[in-house]
Amino acid sequence: MMTTIADRIDAAKARITQAEKQAQRPLDSVQLLAVSKTKPASDLRLAFEAGQTQFGENYLQEALDKQQQLSDLNIQWHFIGPIQSNKTRSIAEHFDWVHSVERLKVAQRLSNQRPDSMAELNVCLQVNISGEASKSGVSADELLPLAKQVAELPHLTLRGLMVIPQATDNPEHQQQQFSEVKALFDQLKSEYDSVDTLSMGMSGDLEVAVEQGSTMVRIGTAIFGARNKREQ
Ligand SMILES: *Cc1c(COP(=O)(O)O)cnc(C)c1O
Repeated sequence: MMTTIADRIDAAKARITQAEKQAQRPLDSVQLLAVSKTKPASDLRLAFEAGQTQFGENYLQEALDKQQQLSDLNIQWHFIGPIQSNKTRSIAEHFDWVHSVERLKVAQRLSNQRPDSMAELNVCLQVNISGEASKSGVSADELLPLAKQVAELPHLTLRGLMVIPQATDNPEHQQQQFSEVKALFDQLKSEYDSVDTLSMGMSGDLEVAVEQGSTMVRIGTAIFGARNKREQ
């Protein structure tokens, strides 16, 4: 039998609930962000009809096209991809959340360019705990100084952290990476009342992420299937 997007959303929610129970965390302490990059607007509409309201997108132009096609729906849009400085205006004008802030310059531009008429833009700082220079994200050392500056920007609300862990076959290493990010998150949370979101966990590792304290998992493949090729 073919599974539908609605079935797969239910299955992802069941995995989250099971992981919350396993970790003895309160039910509904982890939110589901549906990651819809490369997928057509019609797939997002099906997910919305199944009750999903938060969507994550990585590519600006693709996201803007889908936002136009879905403007009749009350969707919360999260930008989760790498940010080029020349794209900040459009991101500031068209998204509710940004998970991938890693530089002060980008944060300043997002704040300056957020329209006064809109609510503050919710931001998470992307951390790089693997230490790989090639990976995006701010290092653990640079995190608190960056957070301090971002928290002062008038049109942004600092909500928390986002991480994409280094791929690994070693479950201990995976757990270790998540628990390091959780420790940074707890520190940040103790300093800023606005901090409540740890964006951590994807289709393949959501159980470990929830066990280690994630409050929002970003699920693509497990809901929408394998990614489509992207038009350049
Ligand atoms: C694509 C993507 C995801 C979703 O990954 P899946 O493994 O398909 O669930 C989550 N987070 C980010 C930042 C992504 O780019």
